[in-house]
Amino acid sequence: MITKNKMICENLDRASDGELTFAGVRLSTLAARYGTPLYLYDEDRIRERCRTYLTAIRENFGEGAKALYASKAACFKRLYEIMREEGMGIDVVSSGEIYTAKRAGYPLERAYFHSNNKTDADIVYAMDNGVGYFVVDSTDELLAIDEIARERGIRQRVLLRITPGIDPHTYAAVATGKVDSKFGSAIETGQADEITALALSLGGIELRGFHCHVGSQVFDSDVYLRAAEVMLDFVANIYRTKGYLADELDIGGGYGVRYIESQPEIDIAANIKEVADFMKSYAASLGIALPAVAFEPGRSIVADAGLTVYTVGSVKRIPGYKSYVSVDGGMADNPRFALYGSPYTILPVMHDLPENSDEIEICSVVGRCCESGDIIQENVPVPRNIKRGDLIACLTTGAYHYSMASNYNRLPKPPIVMLNGGRDYVAVRRESFEDLSAQEV
Ligand SMILES: *Cc1c(COP(=O)(O)O)cnc(C)c1O
Repeated sequence: MITKNKMICENLDRASDGELTFAGVRLSTLAARYGTPLYLYDEDRIRERCRTYLTAIRENFGEGAKALYASKAACFKRLYEIMREEGMGIDVVSSGEIYTAKRAGYPLERAYFHSNNKTDADIVYAMDNGVGYFVVDSTDELLAIDEIARERGIRQRVLLRITPGIDPHTYAAVATGKVDSKFGSAIETGQADEITALALSLGGIELRGFHCHVGSQVFDSDVYLRAAEVMLDFVANIYRTKGYLADELDIGGGYGVRYIESQPEIDIAANIKEVADFMKSYAASLGIALPAVAFEPGRSIVADAGLTVYTVGSVKRIPGYKSYVSVDGGMADNPRFALYGSPYTILPVMHDLPENSDEIEICSVVGRCCESGDIIQENVPVPRNIKRGDLIACLTTGAYHYSMASNYNRLPKPPIVMLNGGRDYVAVRRESFEDLSAQEV
C-alpha cells in the first residue's frame, strides 16, 4: 500500500495559546455558539477529497470513468449540493437518500441505486424520479425491476452486483465480497453467470455492466488488484460465452482512513494509478476493451473532514480499577465503537496533553446512554486535571456517524455545522424535543 506520513488530520492545529483548531476555527467558539455535542465538517476538505478522486480517475482511466460518492457515509442535503457542484456521481441505497438528493437539486440520472433489498415501493420511487442506474443484487430483484420498467415502457439501466469471493481483512460487519455474503451474486456458485444471462433476456432491462464492493476500511491495495483481476476475468468470460461486453465496471469503495496515528494514510491518487495500470494491462492481456471504470468512495471522502466536540460531565475514578470520563453524547451520535470496536483519537480542546506523563491519566471516554457498551474509546490519555465542563474533541467522525445516529434514550441528534474558509454555517439544525415527538399522534 502506498502511504503518506502526516499529522492524523491536516486540518487540525493548535492556536498559540494551545487551543485546538479545526479548519482554522477555534472549537470553543463553535461550542459556545452551537452547544455540544456538535458535529463539524470541513467543507474544503470534502471538496479536496472529491477532486483528488476525480482527477486521479480521469487521468488514469480517461473521461468515461466515474467517481461515485457512497452517500450512506454521510447523507444530508448540503452534502449532495457539494457533490453536485464537484461533479461527483452518487450511490444511494434507499428512497430516503433519493429524496434528500432530489431536495438538493442533485441530477438523479447520475445516481446509482444500491441495496440488497429494494422494495417495490423503492423501485417505483427511483424510476419515477429518474434515478439513472440500479445496481441489482439478486434474481428476485432483477425480475421485479424488469416488471416495473416494462409497465412504464422503459428499459432500466442496470449493473449487476457480483461477489468476487475476496476477503478484504477488515471488520466482519463491513466485509462484503466473500462468497457467503448477503450481497450480490457469486461467481464461484455460477449465480453470477445465471443472473447475467437472465438480465440479457429481459425486455425491461438494459445491462450496462458489473459491480463489486469488497468491504470498507481496507488498507491493503492488493485487495483492489485481486478484485479487479477477478472481475476482469468475469467480464472476459461473459464476453466469450455470451457475446456481451460490459460497458461499465464498478469496483466499489472502501479505501481506509486514519483514525489513529498507527494507521497509515492512504495516498488515493497513487493507489488509483496502481489499480489503473494493472487493469489496463490485464484487460489487454485478456483481449478485451477495458470497460468504463467507477470507484465508490464514501468514508474516504468525508471521514477526516468531520470532528465531534463534546463537553465532559462526570469524571469517575474507581481506585485500583479504572477511570471514566463521561461526555454529553455517546453511542447515539457515535455507535461505531459499540458496533465494531473502532479506534478513535480523542484530544483535549483548550490545551494539548501535558508534556509530563505524571500529569496524564488513562481513562475510558464513555457516553451518557444507559448501556455499559456505550463507549467512545478505551485507554484514552487525558490531563489528570480534566473536569466537568471541559471540552474534548473526537477526531475523524465524518463518516458513519450522523448517518448512523439514533435517538436512543430520547437524545436529540446534534446539529451539523460546516466550516469553510474560516466561516461557519448550519447545514442541519439541532433536533428539538418537539422534533423528537413530531410523529406522535
Ligand atoms: C458502503 C459502500 C461503499 C462505500 O464504502 P466506504 O468504505 O465508505 O468507502 C461503496 N459501495 C458500496 C456498494 C457500499 O455498500
